[in-house]
Amino acid sequence: MKIRQILSILFLALLIAGCTHKTPYTNRSQMILISDEKELALGEQSYEKTLKESKVITNTKESLKVKEIGKKIAKVANTNYKWEFNLIENKAKNAFCLPGGKVVVYTGILEVAKNDDQLATVISHEIAHALARHGAERISTSMISQGIQILGNIAISSQAPEYTKTFNIAYGLGSQYGVLMPYGRMQESEADEIGIYLMHKAGYDLNEAIKFWENMSEGKKENIEFLSTHPSSENRIKSIKNIIKKLN
Ligand SMILES: [Zn+2]
Repeated sequence: MKIRQILSILFLALLIAGCTHKTPYTNRSQMILISDEKELALGEQSYEKTLKESKVITNTKESLKVKEIGKKIAKVANTNYKWEFNLIENKAKNAFCLPGGKVVVYTGILEVAKNDDQLATVISHEIAHALARHGAERISTSMISQGIQILGNIAISSQAPEYTKTFNIAYGLGSQYGVLMPYGRMQESEADEIGIYLMHKAGYDLNEAIKFWENMSEGKKENIEFLSTHPSSENRIKSIKNIIKKLN
């Protein structure tokens, strides 16, 4: 092995050793190679770009609903995020939460989330992905697989286009970037679990969470965008039912 390779491996090992985090509620160890500050800065940047390029709906019954439900869940999430909730005109059935608490809901998903509790289900689920830093975790995994070369680029500039693209894809902003990078099964069940805890704390009807995922799987073809970034399994509803049982 060449000395450069050995040094690279050592460097990576040190980096990984220093970057073990724990997820909230589920307390799982995770490897995260980007700092909170960098993640927040990228989140902010992505969020502003999304708002600028989209039609943001304001002062309608639906947009106020998104804000009202979002704030209720944010309150129980109890972090120092600077929360914002926006409804965006887009037929895609999708929603996402960027680091720092920037939540975007597409109008398309309102066809699946048929009442307040169901809308709370999808918002809680997205917030759970952000609280557990699933996007940062995905970026970290892809950094490892691409080797440490990319780390050098990131050190130079967090604005590097290939990096911001990876970031956006990692956070489920699929349609705007043409590539979909799905959350892993494990991250999905974790977001379901944390999402249910948040809904419970905020006082929403947990049985509607089951109905939401049933609606989602009924229209599978039309819901392809959300399901591509949030892979679902047949066991999903069963697992959610088990979590709810434990809470009742
Ligand atoms: Zn998800």
